Amino acid sequence: MMKKYLTYITLLGAPLFWGQNKTIEKTAYQESWLQEKQGNEALAFDADLQLSDAEIALDKKIFQIRKQFISETEAKKVSLYNSSFTEIKPMIEKSKLFEIFQTMPKGGLLHTHSGGITDVKWVISAARKYQECYVYDQKDNDQFITGQLVFFEKGKVPNGFVSLDKKLSSDPGFEKQLQELLTLKRDNLCSYTDYWIEFEKRFKRISMLLPYRPFFKEYYLKGFQELIEDKVQHVEIRFIFDELYDFKNGKYPLTTSITDLQDVVKEIQKSDPQFSLKLIYSSFKFLDTENIDKQLEMAFELKKSFPDMITGFDLVADEAAGHSISFFEKNWIKLKELNKKYGMEMPLFLHAGESNSIFNENVLDIALLDNKRIGHGLNLIYFPKTMEQIRKQNKLVEVSPLSNQILGYVSDLRNHPARVLLSNGVQCSINSDDPSVYGYTGLSYDFWVAMVYWELDLRALKKLVFNSVNYSSLNDNEKKKAITYLNQQWNDFVQKTNQKLN
Ligand SMILES: [Zn+2]
Repeated sequence: MMKKYLTYITLLGAPLFWGQNKTIEKTAYQESWLQEKQGNEALAFDADLQLSDAEIALDKKIFQIRKQFISETEAKKVSLYNSSFTEIKPMIEKSKLFEIFQTMPKGGLLHTHSGGITDVKWVISAARKYQECYVYDQKDNDQFITGQLVFFEKGKVPNGFVSLDKKLSSDPGFEKQLQELLTLKRDNLCSYTDYWIEFEKRFKRISMLLPYRPFFKEYYLKGFQELIEDKVQHVEIRFIFDELYDFKNGKYPLTTSITDLQDVVKEIQKSDPQFSLKLIYSSFKFLDTENIDKQLEMAFELKKSFPDMITGFDLVADEAAGHSISFFEKNWIKLKELNKKYGMEMPLFLHAGESNSIFNENVLDIALLDNKRIGHGLNLIYFPKTMEQIRKQNKLVEVSPLSNQILGYVSDLRNHPARVLLSNGVQCSINSDDPSVYGYTGLSYDFWVAMVYWELDLRALKKLVFNSVNYSSLNDNEKKKAITYLNQQWNDFVQKTNQKLN
């Protein structure tokens, strides 16, 4: 009998033998192979995280649901990997996975922008309630563009503007048309779009709507409610400061935006006491160094008055069109002086590497500056030394998968560069960037695509969620409370979802 066994091993190799008796030692090759596998796994961003038994059980169930979803799409011959978000959105919404993600606590949304937060359908319905809201319904010119929404005093309405409410009532197709003008979609992955031109038009269309003080408050209240509904407990906005106004008092100082937002947060906290908000003062990469100096001074002035609200500084806009980060070298030296002058730190949260080109070298600056988190960092993987430095410096990359697809940086989401970052141990979080412009609300869609296309397990998802609080700009005390709350929510989610999926 023994001899027969040995013959089997010699002829057919070890696996057959292991099946019969697991205590038998592995071959040297198998041993090396396992070491190779474990060596790779040890480098991953979530290698330090251990799942509980309940989490392991849930992970298996969720992965099974994912597997089933993939085979269903294959059976239906759905081209999942060559479809745009717009094409598969209805399918996502119907999926069991989406239902699970909607109930999953998300922690914080670390990367979003003022003007890109609240559902466009709501924006239209709320704006039409104001008699003083008008829409431009003529062809684009130097001053205004079609679909631009503006508040005017009676008798001061320029030519080409019509009452929004009257226009919506008299023209049944206009609401849909306006929705399209306020959102940016990639209908499919092949057609040509001048993404950034179209993207910036969306912001221009509501740019004069948001600073109207009564609307401003309503907008953020609704935006935060949508996020809470999607289990987001903390938000950090790249905030472009604008003077709020109304027709009774004219313009308000910049600080009014902050005090009004604090009022909105207090209102929200009556029902959701865990909710918190931070603002990252944002200016533009296309401005010159003198202007950025002024912007930095302004950011420090606001932080002096609201140290708990203003937590950092960023420069936004199309990186291909604006100045490089190193162009602002003198400003970054000035920033250090201002840190001393004001006796407070103003960390940077720069957008860098939102590009597919190696000629965009903005990620190099991130390794040199006091820059806590990186917006996008898509081309970081082409700069291996910098990628390693950023990993060692423990700086987080804010990843926005859907934004990256809609703005044309990634088509097949399986090839998103974040996968390389995650497997190399660079910390990341999941973000929605400008969900209202992309025609959705919440963070569940971004988690859905990350999980389905990047084959993430529950350990990776948990790490991404907890990163969004651990790398937030909450102060130590706030962070401690936020983590306690998130832990409770997470454990509750694991328990309930395990029960539901039994
Ligand atoms: Zn952004």
